[in-house]
Amino acid sequence: MRVLVVEDEKKTASFIRKALQAEGFAVDVCHNGDDAWAAARATSFDAIVLDIMLPGRDGLSLLRQLRERQNATPVLLLSARGEVNERVEGLNAGADDYLPKPFVIAELIARIRALGRRGSETKSPVLRVADLTLDTLTREAQRGGVAIELTTREYRLLEFLMRSTGRICGRMAILEKVWDYDFDPGSNLVDVNVMRLREKIDADFEPKLLHTVRGIGYVMKEPA
Ligand code: CA
Repeated sequence: MRVLVVEDEKKTASFIRKALQAEGFAVDVCHNGDDAWAAARATSFDAIVLDIMLPGRDGLSLLRQLRERQNATPVLLLSARGEVNERVEGLNAGADDYLPKPFVIAELIARIRALGRRGSETKSPVLRVADLTLDTLTREAQRGGVAIELTTREYRLLEFLMRSTGRICGRMAILEKVWDYDFDPGSNLVDVNVMRLREKIDADFEPKLLHTVRGIGYVMKEPA
């Protein structure tokens, strides 16, 4: 895997580069947005680690420009503490994942691997189950040609369910993938959000695609 690391804090950039190289990745580093723009256009990367606050062209502008040019390289955003708005904006701008600083390097590596796998698994950016489609570049959902408005959380939930089509998604797996929880908060968070999503994608349509597996979780599938 070839990874582009865009980070202006040189110590952090060098730390990430060494850690990734130790894992066998090929790594290019840029310290500002303009160099990163040139690098991303010149070379095909399997993933980009992108800091938001950069001198010159900032991370979000860079991300938007890449997506405008149909560059679908998976992007992991790094956001400093408190940059919640930027993070949401980043996901809307087409980031595939984000990691708040400070982060644990093992987690960064695991997420980059996951992005690389995702990138090679799905040539097309559009996920499809029956007449339900989800464009992972533009984040637009449609059912039967009708646009469906999703919140960021609903988008992540739907993306996870659609990428797992035909496989049962347990509540714990959903909490991990969609909320980044590694514990069960003991609430009905998942069920409430699935219900809301179901209202949007299934209530007014046939056949129903999002099914409850009692006591376990949910599964996205077309009826046989
Ligand atoms: Ca920075």
